[in-house]
Amino acid sequence: MTTSSVRVRFAPSPTGPLHIGGLRTALYNYLFAKKHKGTFILRIEDTDQKRFVEGAEDYIKEALNWCGIPYDEGPEKEASYGPYHQSDRKSIYKEYVEKLLTSGQAYYAFDTAEELAKLREDFEKAGKTFSYDWETRHQLKNSLALSEAEVQQKLENNEKYVIRFKPPHNQEVIMHDLVRGEITVNTKAVDDKVLYKSDGLPTYHMANIIDDHLMEISHVIRGEEWLPSMALHVLLYKAFDWEAPEFAHLPLILKPTGKGKLSKRDGDKLGFPVFPLAWTDPKTGDLAAGYREAGYLPQAVINMLAFMGWNPGHGSEKEIFSLQELIDAFSFKQVSKSGAKFDFEKTKWFQHHYFQQADNKTIAQEFTKIIADKGYQPDPAYVEQVTKAIKERATFTKELWELGDFFFKAPEAYDNKAVKKAWKADTPSLMKAIKDIIQQIDHFTKEELTQQVKTWITQQEIGFGKVMMPLRLVIVGAMKGPDLFQIMTLIGKEETLSRITQALQRL
Ligand code: GLU
Repeated sequence: MTTSSVRVRFAPSPTGPLHIGGLRTALYNYLFAKKHKGTFILRIEDTDQKRFVEGAEDYIKEALNWCGIPYDEGPEKEASYGPYHQSDRKSIYKEYVEKLLTSGQAYYAFDTAEELAKLREDFEKAGKTFSYDWETRHQLKNSLALSEAEVQQKLENNEKYVIRFKPPHNQEVIMHDLVRGEITVNTKAVDDKVLYKSDGLPTYHMANIIDDHLMEISHVIRGEEWLPSMALHVLLYKAFDWEAPEFAHLPLILKPTGKGKLSKRDGDKLGFPVFPLAWTDPKTGDLAAGYREAGYLPQAVINMLAFMGWNPGHGSEKEIFSLQELIDAFSFKQVSKSGAKFDFEKTKWFQHHYFQQADNKTIAQEFTKIIADKGYQPDPAYVEQVTKAIKERATFTKELWELGDFFFKAPEAYDNKAVKKAWKADTPSLMKAIKDIIQQIDHFTKEELTQQVKTWITQQEIGFGKVMMPLRLVIVGAMKGPDLFQIMTLIGKEETLSRITQALQRL
């Protein structure tokens, strides 16, 4: 149930998988909405049919769900503000464009793509940049320059046209951004953007502000790349006599070097994903890596993303934040203006933390699949115990096999270096003695085993290493693994004895 008028939207265009920059935008929208007991909306901005990519919308929804930041309102969660696909809202936009035409704040333009390309070229040759604006519009083919009769004729002939915005002339637009503070732009710097295209569809700018208005969006939270459009959007609200929402433009996510925007190529080069979920390009078949498939926990991805441009402030050094803690702490006051450098090592650090926190049973279920692939079918409760014993040194479930394969199989070979170091002339007799001790233990617990072996070593007045090193070699096959007594009690008395016997034959 929502109790506030805060309504925010994440408005992606379904043109491909969601980059983590886009996911960060969604996250900040979510955090802000939840903090203010508001509504988080998903709107699909699919007016550009040429750029539509099959599967992209499902990908976006799945990514939000995987991260645990589902939308409250949007496709399949319809409320009274729908539909939530701009392609289903076509009929809505027309009447608004007509309003602007009637009030003289928009006009028909008949210039063809070729004519405009030619103009751009000519300007470039003269060392200038062409802009369709207050300086050029009166020499071009539009309803401001042509006579009424000419315009009428063109419309009757069904000549192709677009509808352009006519910003008010030479006015200071004073705007406020929640991250950047006050921004002033003179309308002379705002060009005559196309609002409506010849295919009968509105452009991004037009559809975006009409929908934000009709959906009663209170705060527009989006990436910095939209900052240059802010003045146009504010002017459009004014043109309709609507109250504009508040704006917050989020800093860019930069390459680890800090130079330029983080791209898929950086990820490929440095070996980390820049997408939440893996994605196969439907046209090229190219596969892009995803955090989920790489074994990351969503909590780690969320915690890492939250810090890409935000910090808790007040000199706080706390970095581990649950989603609820992020909601409670989030504020635009602590969002930085400058770009946030992507730090892959930090991401792993978050993952290590959340992996340690994760429920052993859940990890064990994943681990069981890996063990099964290796050809073993251990008892689930046993896998859980093993997981608990070895996960301390792991960051991902996939590392557990390497860390604890000996819990499921006797050593097939013994590490050469370790043999040289640990296996001496008197080792076999020591191992036989240990075997005898173990044989006599009825209650094979870690405490009992530890106590008996340690007492014996002390009585023999020999160093612990002299016994424990070869014993580890015998049980594990190498100098790795957690506490050896714990390993032996977990694999059990029979298996422990059998491994000692085997080693005595083979070494
Ligand atoms: N459809 C735009 C995008 O893909 C939305 C920008 C906005 O939030 O206004 O980023």
